[in-house]
Amino acid sequence: MTTERASLEIDGIVQGVGFRPFVYRLALRYGLAGWVRNTGQGVQLEAEGTDADLRAFCRALRKEAPPLAVITALRVEPVAVEGGSGFAILGSAKSAGGGDVSPDCDVCDDCLAELFDPVNRRHVYPFINCTNCGPRYSIITGIPYDRPATTMAPFGMCEECLAEYHDPLNRRFHAQPNACPVCGPRLRLLDSSGVPLPGDPLAQALHALAQGEIVAVKGVGGYHLAVDALSGEAVAKLRQRKKRDEKPFAMLAAGLDEVRSFAHCSELEGRLLEGVERPIVLLRKLPVNPVSKLVAPGNGWFGFMLPGNPLQHLLIRGVNGPLVMTSGNLSDEPIAYRDAEAVEMLSGIADFFLSHDREIHTRTDDSVIRLYRGEPLFLRRSRGYVPRAVLLPERQVSVLAVGAELKATLCLTRGSQAFLSQHIGDLKNAATLASLEESAVHLGRLLEVKPELVAHDLHPDYLSTHFAQGLGLPCVAIQHHHAHMASCMAENGLDGEVIGVILDGTGYGSDGTIWGGEFLLGGYHGFTRCGHFGQMRMPGGDAAVREPYRMALSALYPLYGNALFEQPLTVLSQVAEPDRPLFLKMLERGINSPLTSSCGRLFDAVSALIGVRSRISYEGQAAIELEALAELGNSSAPYPYPYRVQGEGCRAIDFGPMIAAICGDLAAGRGSADIARAFHQTVASAVLELCQGIREGSGNDRVVLSGGVFQNRILTEDVAKLLSGDGFDVYCHRLVPPNDGGLALGQAVIAGRKSSQPQPQPQP
Ligand code: ZN
Ligand code: ZN
Ligand code: FE
Repeated sequence: MTTERASLEIDGIVQGVGFRPFVYRLALRYGLAGWVRNTGQGVQLEAEGTDADLRAFCRALRKEAPPLAVITALRVEPVAVEGGSGFAILGSAKSAGGGDVSPDCDVCDDCLAELFDPVNRRHVYPFINCTNCGPRYSIITGIPYDRPATTMAPFGMCEECLAEYHDPLNRRFHAQPNACPVCGPRLRLLDSSGVPLPGDPLAQALHALAQGEIVAVKGVGGYHLAVDALSGEAVAKLRQRKKRDEKPFAMLAAGLDEVRSFAHCSELEGRLLEGVERPIVLLRKLPVNPVSKLVAPGNGWFGFMLPGNPLQHLLIRGVNGPLVMTSGNLSDEPIAYRDAEAVEMLSGIADFFLSHDREIHTRTDDSVIRLYRGEPLFLRRSRGYVPRAVLLPERQVSVLAVGAELKATLCLTRGSQAFLSQHIGDLKNAATLASLEESAVHLGRLLEVKPELVAHDLHPDYLSTHFAQGLGLPCVAIQHHHAHMASCMAENGLDGEVIGVILDGTGYGSDGTIWGGEFLLGGYHGFTRCGHFGQMRMPGGDAAVREPYRMALSALYPLYGNALFEQPLTVLSQVAEPDRPLFLKMLERGINSPLTSSCGRLFDAVSALIGVRSRISYEGQAAIELEALAELGNSSAPYPYPYRVQGEGCRAIDFGPMIAAICGDLAAGRGSADIARAFHQTVASAVLELCQGIREGSGNDRVVLSGGVFQNRILTEDVAKLLSGDGFDVYCHRLVPPNDGGLALGQAVIAGRKSSQPQPQPQP
């Protein structure tokens, strides 16, 4: 037996997950001497002992790593034997490159058992945590990840907690947010104007919920509004106070059994719900269920989540049924996360505030996932997943990408890793812009990386574009749908050229018009527009987005011209008699009616035309309700979808004949569900035919599907099935959303590849 000494470097999510204590315990087990420390990159350690023990230690490092850890690389090098004894955890070493911060995570089983153990000193203590669980990203203010760099800094640990914190054999050894009822954060209950109330906060909040009152609950990443989901009256009150909002509310349920009494939930959906990330998962409603109809009106799906922090566990065990748990915000504003701001913003909505004195440093909304073809797809990637990195096909210069306008997220790259920020929201006001700016600084600090380039959308007027241009760094403007395509390529590890089918709402085109139903051929370096949906006018500009009946008029005008209002179509009643001449003039001359090839607007037009939705109260509503209707329809042959080849071989699909056929079906009394279904099939068939044409011309048979319209389950499944059936390799999103929430990833990679600057070498 010879004595050896090895130096190990471990990359990945190995900080903030209890990795150093884990290494310490392993070293004790195998009788090794040495030390371990966090570095900017991950964890570094030296261990000395017999060669057999060292080998066993290295195996166990991988095999028994803490549940939250993700090891992306482990390098072992022999070094000179030093002959010391004992194993030490050294202070964090700060070096260039930055470590990885762990996402927030649900309570572990050990802590959960203690939470409900009447003799445990943390019995019903809502801030229980250990090295294996608890808040991370949302409370970290800087790195290295140590208690002073978290919002737990103001709480001094009591003797008992300190003893745990310093005991290498304890589960709370170096658990930075360690706390107990004696020394840690405390719950408090405030009335609707923010005045603290005496008594037991939790018991009173539960009582209020049972009475049908609205309670604003401070969670890990921000405030939720909670109300009894089975009480129509209570949900109606919440809807009314949140102001005519028809957007579906998510619900919190106690466990899978409860979820399955309201909605279909497969084995995989169950595993997603029960994962430590605790996302909202969209599940198909059971035809008969006791949930208030107002929770998700006009929608065949419920969004459910399971408790993701101790307070939610305590709440859901104290009520009889699911709770609505919706973001505590006014529509269009970011979720409230600071106490004063929450009271100010929500005092007209909430009857009570169940709050506490641990600050949230970074606001993180709930993540939302839905299954497509049996695979998970993010609709929103935020709490629980942020800031896990997406691995890029190759190393690149560090780029900050700022997204577009809707569902904004940032992306910051470091080496071959891309870090997407939490969901920031729609960049339409000062609050979301400020949040974007803060997040850019915070992400850079956590990752210890300074971007060399900034990538932004081609749209000259987006707030994100102005923000990017004000940073004083070289900027790269990137076409919106090119970024969507690159985002899907990057997360699938694709290089070279692909066909990008980008079905989207709105994006600024290279020719200055609004694009959104695009067939691109290319790669990170650039693209050719090989096809698009036929252009339609948007009468009234942005008003046409909020009022889909305008898109229906626009789709009908080429068919009927100035005789439009003489047609026997219900949608025409949306325009009052005196306004009709103005509409005709707008459509005839194109006044204040920009052209768009948007797929989302085509969905709007059909939705309004067949009487589903003429005006919307949240983004995408007309299309979402059209999809819900199509689920009830029978399959049939698609409508016609002729296309013309324009200059330079670019194909434009003409949906005019389809609109005419739909009008014929309406006149003949065909059911709207069947029309909706046939419309989805028409779009899917048109996609296939254009892709076939592009394949013929280019020999390329790899297709990436991206853009917000691919949140539509029926369309995505139809398109993917047709393409795969015809021999195409089809790539969808999996790690980031297909909507603009995943756009920054594509922007970052395109900018990184465009840059001719030398690649930075890894720091020693
Ligand atoms: Zn725990
Ligand atoms: Zn304590
Ligand atoms: Fe988009």
